[in-house]
Amino acid sequence: MYLNINDVNQIQLDHTGRCNLSCPQCARQSHQWSLKSSQRLSDLSVQDYQIILEPFEENKIKLFHCGNYGDALASPTFDNTFEYCLKKNVKHIKIATNGSLKTNKWWEQFALKGKDKLTVIFSIDGLADTNHVYRVGANWNLLLSNLKSFTKAGGNAEWHFIEFEHNQHQVHEIKQLANDIGVKKFIHKKSSRFSNEGKRKVKTIKGQTINQPKNDQSELSKSKAIAQYGDFDSYVNHTKINCKFKSDFKIFIDMEMKLWPCCWLGAPSYFLHKNKQSDSIKYLYKLYGNNFNDLRVKGWDVLNHDFFQEYLANSWDNPNEQFKRIYTCGRTCGSKYEFSSGHGTNITRDKLSYEEL
Ligand code: SF4
Ligand code: SF4
Repeated sequence: MYLNINDVNQIQLDHTGRCNLSCPQCARQSHQWSLKSSQRLSDLSVQDYQIILEPFEENKIKLFHCGNYGDALASPTFDNTFEYCLKKNVKHIKIATNGSLKTNKWWEQFALKGKDKLTVIFSIDGLADTNHVYRVGANWNLLLSNLKSFTKAGGNAEWHFIEFEHNQHQVHEIKQLANDIGVKKFIHKKSSRFSNEGKRKVKTIKGQTINQPKNDQSELSKSKAIAQYGDFDSYVNHTKINCKFKSDFKIFIDMEMKLWPCCWLGAPSYFLHKNKQSDSIKYLYKLYGNNFNDLRVKGWDVLNHDFFQEYLANSWDNPNEQFKRIYTCGRTCGSKYEFSSGHGTNITRDKLSYEEL
């Protein structure tokens, strides 16, 4: 069994398929605008949140707008749904955003409305001369004044910084700036994104090359897993799996109200190009039908579906012809290689601290 509805304590959401930026290693870009135009314009509505929150008592569930394909603040439905969730007295709302959206006034009001129920993660990968290199399309002056307006009005802000070769020399200066502005937590992400993709550089839509940071340790750890298992596919298919979301009592809902165990499994169904991850999801849809995990059609009964009750745990612990190992699970939650920079350690600290993840 995955999780019982009473065990779920956090729902991660991709509220929308919209975003104002074009970060090259985001699924929006790396899978080549895989979202069909209708999906890019998908947004969750107040009616959707009525379904989402229906089984949970007041002050029980935490929401996290992590965003697989979109930035929640780019959505025209966000303001209404945010107010609805506050009215329903959810326990907490966390939002990850690029910050280059809305006005200073809006951010001030946002802090005042959300009070201590709200935390905003500003994903800012540099300073005035570097942030826009990866965060293609970001407006430095706007995002910095938005962040200042938010913290000045008492908002809880975190600054998450991803290290690349072009910005890794700035980390101390950035942390100082975050401190001066009143940001409560600073997270320095040593991401494994380059070793995950097996490429040391990536090009932006503007033609700029972004290089892997120097001293990227994740590459070493991937090589060790490969050396032990022969190749990466063999590692994915045979490694012991420790499900990161199940152990944290989390679940994920995408911008079309499909329920997935986690954000990583929620991504490949929208990939344009076929790969091993999307093959696994196609197999599931073939086995169970296209609506098996659709909350709009079935409500939370989807959590009682065989996929959550039987398939997942078997595919981790006893994979076979029926319960095939899902490629994304082995890749992401295998025991020998840390795929994600953010798991676990970035959710507990409450002071401005220099954390390397
Ligand atoms: S801001 Fe977030 S959702 Fe938008 S392109 Fe960048 S990573 Fe993707
Ligand atoms: S990828 Fe698979 S094992 Fe990992 S968190 Fe998601 S469902 Fe769990």
